[in-house]
Amino acid sequence: MNKPQSHNKVVAIVPAAGKGERFGPGTNKPFQILISKPLIIWALEALASVDDIVEIIPVLKVDDMEHGMKIFEEYHCSKIKRIAPGGIERQDSVYNGLKLIEDKNCIVLIHDGVRPLIEPPLIKGMIKQMSEILQTKEQCDGIVPGVPLKDTIKVAEDGIIKKTLRRDSLWAIQTPQVFPFKNIFSAYERAMQEGFYSTDDAAIVERYGGKIKIVMGSYRNLKITTPEDLIIAEILLSRGY
Ligand code: C5P
Repeated sequence: MNKPQSHNKVVAIVPAAGKGERFGPGTNKPFQILISKPLIIWALEALASVDDIVEIIPVLKVDDMEHGMKIFEEYHCSKIKRIAPGGIERQDSVYNGLKLIEDKNCIVLIHDGVRPLIEPPLIKGMIKQMSEILQTKEQCDGIVPGVPLKDTIKVAEDGIIKKTLRRDSLWAIQTPQVFPFKNIFSAYERAMQEGFYSTDDAAIVERYGGKIKIVMGSYRNLKITTPEDLIIAEILLSRGY
């Protein structure tokens, strides 16, 4: 895969255009209030605090774009210049964000808008590692954070267990994920042409032979999927954890 010439700048894409079906009908998850501010603002503020990130492109449902821009202005999200329209699947949404990036030599950082507890040191560490790797000849097409699984995972079909996976090599993969723009964009273009879909960005790069590194994420970096996740996030934040 290609290596960019220069890789100082980082553009963040923040997909937040999901239907939120597991969260509850009639709710607009990215704009639900978490303690003091909308859920998506927590992630956007963490990203904005990282100097290397020069632009943040949120991806919102088309119907949310106008309202979203007003909220971003209200919270002084100065690194947001434009919003990308969401697509049917997460992958369509991220692709719409990628297509807006003009600096083809940048590093792309993709972070779910519904992971409010992301901590700047993890973001900074991943960007630093990706930048350093790009100065060398080492092959690395992206870096993802993950945490070792706590539960045992089984494959089941029609209510019957087919297989039990060995837990000691399994990781729960999180965001942010970082990639050189050219690597992630070319993998996305191939996947879209082939109609290959994944819920994970790195999996798209892996499919075309890309080498992805994994670093230790954090159990705190929750993805707010169901209503109880929001309560857990509130408790963690209110205890300063
Ligand atoms: O669906 P999943 O839990 O994997 O969603 C992760 C993130 O991707 C969420 O922030 C969600 O809003 C976003 N997403 C999106 N467009 C979709 C589906 C999900 O931006 N069509």
